[in-house]
Amino acid sequence: MKQIALYGKGGIGKSTTSANLSAALSEKSLDILQIGCDPKHDSTRMLMHGQWIPTVLDLVREKGEGNITTEDVVFSGYNNIRCVEAGGPEPGVGCAGRGIIATFQLLEKLDALYGDVIVYDVLGDVVCGGFAMPMREGYAREVYLVTSGDFMALYAANNICKAIARLSKRSKPCCTLGGVICNSQNIEGELGLVSEFAEKINSELTGFIPRSQIVRVSEVNKKTVLEYAPESEQADVYRKLAEKIMNTNPDPDKKPTPLSMDELETLAQKYIKA
Ligand code: SF4
Repeated sequence: MKQIALYGKGGIGKSTTSANLSAALSEKSLDILQIGCDPKHDSTRMLMHGQWIPTVLDLVREKGEGNITTEDVVFSGYNNIRCVEAGGPEPGVGCAGRGIIATFQLLEKLDALYGDVIVYDVLGDVVCGGFAMPMREGYAREVYLVTSGDFMALYAANNICKAIARLSKRSKPCCTLGGVICNSQNIEGELGLVSEFAEKINSELTGFIPRSQIVRVSEVNKKTVLEYAPESEQADVYRKLAEKIMNTNPDPDKKPTPLSMDELETLAQKYIKA
């Protein structure tokens, strides 16, 4: 079982990337479970054709953990992808990771934490005190940083990288950095900037997702690009990403090397110019 986690700043397009990645993986006849952890709980919405599924945290509050069944929390979406939303606290109230850990524990108890690939979509925002929890607890084994060439997105990615570096010092490292995914915002010099960032943190650019109107059109039609426009070039971009991730086997001995604030700023200045 491959346990991959996509981390990145809020609003960077993690959920869109995760849902399209899951859809592309499901085309390979793989059994996929996607778990979203974001207070917005919209990670799986496109896979569920616009349906907001109840979150584990809300259900725990309403029914009590002991009364929850698998059918209450695991929903079947596009191409039989199993969808779960962990939920989260009210905006501004960090949950310190309790949301996602409670979800993992519940899914384990229900014997629902299985599949060929588990895709975790985790908010890695600086404000989220709990983003390292899935890594620390050994659920997020292979981490992909989703970023763009925007400075704050890189700042968040670098912070997540720091968490991985810290955890990889353990005697038994629990997670490795799989790579960096650039979800393009059409910023000048973006490919160069994100590629060099990936190299500098001792990783690689796993994929470059060009900005495309078809993503927005698919979303308003409540579908992933893979479902709405399977013949499009953008659908192939996600297929390529899925292929690359399936073929990636990150070396646990290869440790990430996060940048200092000065290094990050110098790197950004090299590419972001007036
Ligand atoms: S605070 Fe972190 S762990 Fe908790 S719900 Fe938000 S993103 Fe998930």
